[in-house]
Amino acid sequence: MTDVSMNAKKSEHMVVVGAGLVGSLWALMLAQRGHRVDVYERRPDPRTGSVKGGRSINLALSDRGWRALEKAGIAQKVRQIALPIEGRLMHAQDGALTFQRYGLPEATGLHGDPQCIYSVSRANLNRLLVEAAEAHAGVEFHFGHKCADVDLSKNVLELESPEGSSVLVQYDRLFGTDGAFSAVRNRLTRTDRFDFEQRYLEHGYKEVAMQPDALGAFKMQKDALHIWPRGEFMLMALPNPDGTFTCTLFAPYAGANGLDQLVDPADALVYFEKNFPDILPLIPDLTAQWATNPVSSLVMTRCYPWHHGDNVCLMGDAAHAIVPFYGQGMNSGMEDCSILSELLDKMNSPQDWDQTLSAYTAARKPAGDAILELALRNYIEMRDKTGDPQFLLQKRIEAKLAKTFPGRWLPLYSQVTFSHTPYQEALAAGVLHDRVMAEILAKPDIEETWDSDAVAESAMNALEHIQKSA
Ligand SMILES: Cc1cc2nc3c(=O)[nH]c(=O)nc-3n(C[C@H](O)[C@H](O)[C@H](O)COP(=O)(O)OP(=O)(O)OC[C@H]3O[C@@H](n4cnc5c(N)ncnc54)[C@H](O)[C@@H]3O)c2cc1C
Repeated sequence: MTDVSMNAKKSEHMVVVGAGLVGSLWALMLAQRGHRVDVYERRPDPRTGSVKGGRSINLALSDRGWRALEKAGIAQKVRQIALPIEGRLMHAQDGALTFQRYGLPEATGLHGDPQCIYSVSRANLNRLLVEAAEAHAGVEFHFGHKCADVDLSKNVLELESPEGSSVLVQYDRLFGTDGAFSAVRNRLTRTDRFDFEQRYLEHGYKEVAMQPDALGAFKMQKDALHIWPRGEFMLMALPNPDGTFTCTLFAPYAGANGLDQLVDPADALVYFEKNFPDILPLIPDLTAQWATNPVSSLVMTRCYPWHHGDNVCLMGDAAHAIVPFYGQGMNSGMEDCSILSELLDKMNSPQDWDQTLSAYTAARKPAGDAILELALRNYIEMRDKTGDPQFLLQKRIEAKLAKTFPGRWLPLYSQVTFSHTPYQEALAAGVLHDRVMAEILAKPDIEETWDSDAVAESAMNALEHIQKSA
């Protein structure tokens, strides 16, 4: 194959639908491969400041996201707008505080800091990604353009322009990064043997902001994700680099502790007084915010396959919308980008897209299903177990095992957040760990002996035994 034909193949017309976190990153990565890229986004340009969204204000970025950002050469820029979060701080009903470090003791994170996650503003990150992609030769963004349909037989994208007229765009490859309610995926649901399911969590969420103090400082510990676990509901607060906290109440829509009981801000005030008394003085405008901020729902989707033929591909929430409790929705979407890019790196020129996209679905579909399951389980862990002394003891024992037996015991949270182990392998390891820990925690004197070498040895023996008998 000559260089000329390889280049001709490389300069294909790539079309990306959705300029969110995943779409703008993927547009940059495609352009870095030498392609011409047009990105069509339903909303106005996020840099005009006119974008209003019902989605979370900030996000936790962790290793899987960083790896993709590094591959695209923009990790350093993102680092400048990211705030390190070293652990979670649990607020008990009586005001007692318990700090639990996310990373393993003495482990070093990606940026030389202790292992931690990073809080980033969704809007700032989106702006940065759009700017980085747009600065690259060959990328053009078209805001205010909504994907209405796709003609799969003619490779034509059908859009509605800001003026309401219809625009037709011919593509060589089409990437659907248009989020949980993807129009591109919607078109694929009308193709033969395409599976799709959607489910809403019975719980919703509402966000309120905690402003900094009069000197502009954080009102609570700033390197922590704060959690008020209260059984079937919880409050969470994640700091932002500007000194504010985004506080999010997750609760059932209906029932004794349900959001339907809190429509009147006065009722919300009573609920906060009862359940989260320590935060109330820190948000003096709680009722005003409560009256105006929306209750938002949480949707989960699964589909298969994540591609169509050799020229349509779904990425990010368009392929796998999950609940936010592991902080992995965006991270897993960015991992779609790094994995697809790595698959493209491996394929010989000219690129065999059929093979590449099949390999992408094969690699990512089990991962998407696993992180959905992990995220659902983590909701129960966060709201129900983080206040439980047995659970905290389990975490301490697991940290000790990880330190004593590096490479043989990596806690589930570390595998999901600080490694690139496929999510499905992390999920399977977590199930084994839980079986081992159930045995260990059942020991009558475990509260006194948990730190001993004998307990550590016994946990490793139990792990080996379960692995052999599996
Ligand atoms: C409360 C909450 C907290 C979260 N916290 C975290 C976290 O801490 N860490 C984490 O990793 N993830 C988190 N997530 C998940 C994260 O927000 C998503 O996984 C991420 O935004 C997915 O990015 P995306 O680009 O695939 O989709 P989106 O961000 O939804 O972007 C899709 C884009 O497509 C555009 N679009 C939609 N339809 C069309 C159309 N027809 N035509 C053209 N454009 C269209 C949209 O306007 C949007 O700009 C959280 C989610 C929620 C709800």
